[in-house]
Amino acid sequence: MRLPPRRHLAAALLLAVCSHTAFATTTHVPQQQVPGVYHQQIGELQVTALFDGTVALGRQELVGIDAGAVTRLLDHRYVPEDSKGLQTAVNAYLVQRGNRLTLVDTGTAKCFGPGLGQVLGNLRAAGYAPSDVDDVLLTHAHPDHLCGLLDAQGKAAFPNATVWLSHADAAYWLDPASEASAPQGLRFAFKLARDAVAPYEAAGTLRRFGTQDPLPTGIRALDSHGHTPGHVSYRIDSGAGQPLLVWGDVVHFHAVQFAQPDAAYEADSDRNAAIASRRRMMAEAADNGWWVAGAHLPFPGLGHVRRQDGAFAWVPAEFMPLTP
Ligand SMILES: [Zn+2]
Repeated sequence: MRLPPRRHLAAALLLAVCSHTAFATTTHVPQQQVPGVYHQQIGELQVTALFDGTVALGRQELVGIDAGAVTRLLDHRYVPEDSKGLQTAVNAYLVQRGNRLTLVDTGTAKCFGPGLGQVLGNLRAAGYAPSDVDDVLLTHAHPDHLCGLLDAQGKAAFPNATVWLSHADAAYWLDPASEASAPQGLRFAFKLARDAVAPYEAAGTLRRFGTQDPLPTGIRALDSHGHTPGHVSYRIDSGAGQPLLVWGDVVHFHAVQFAQPDAAYEADSDRNAAIASRRRMMAEAADNGWWVAGAHLPFPGLGHVRRQDGAFAWVPAEFMPLTP
């Protein structure tokens, strides 16, 4: 069949573009990924997701769900997996409102070895200076969230920031007595927590808070304990639009836990509380249309939650140019 002349021209142009692209790219092999930075405007907030790296979580670390159900849920999700486990992103979030900068979580810095610890570099790549950060909000005191409080020299990475940590997590993770009674596999995290907050504690800029206490303007801490004793999620007002819920570690296995929120993570300090918090945060986000940012959702980990089949599903944000 002959193409009408216009279609003919379009097809010829497309072919020309394709062959040109193929020719032009044969000599270029990317040596590294683009910076792990993603911007999202949410109302008055300029949100920047900062990639720290990935960790591997074994599917056997899911508890309260049988292996067959895990396999069925993971089928056709294409989560990268190797002998160490399922690829799991580590993300932090910088939120700018006017000239005020708030960082939620800080990544692993040197605590988890090479390949991670990229938050500080990515923050700079996004055009921000660490010394300009006004507040650092910690969702909890695990090393993948607070080790980044320190720079490569072990000094305060955010020298002008107030660091916010819940009373309950501070009481647990900064206390040598709780270290002695903790499960063996978790003990390494206590010294890392004490070291990470030390320069801020010494400077008087570590603030312990309860969920009813005032936080920086426009920000509320929502109790989402269970993964740790004092885990919190932060709801950040965006002005006229929907708020942003930076929920921390409400989900570790996105391909499983949206559909099966009752599947817990072995490392949760109180699995039943973690399940209840996950259900509560997902329901709040889904029923109110809140934006969500998740520390272990696939980068950039920004999007929405919807209800599906009696449980939930993740709706990743769509790429959107920034309005000038
Ligand atoms: Zn985490």
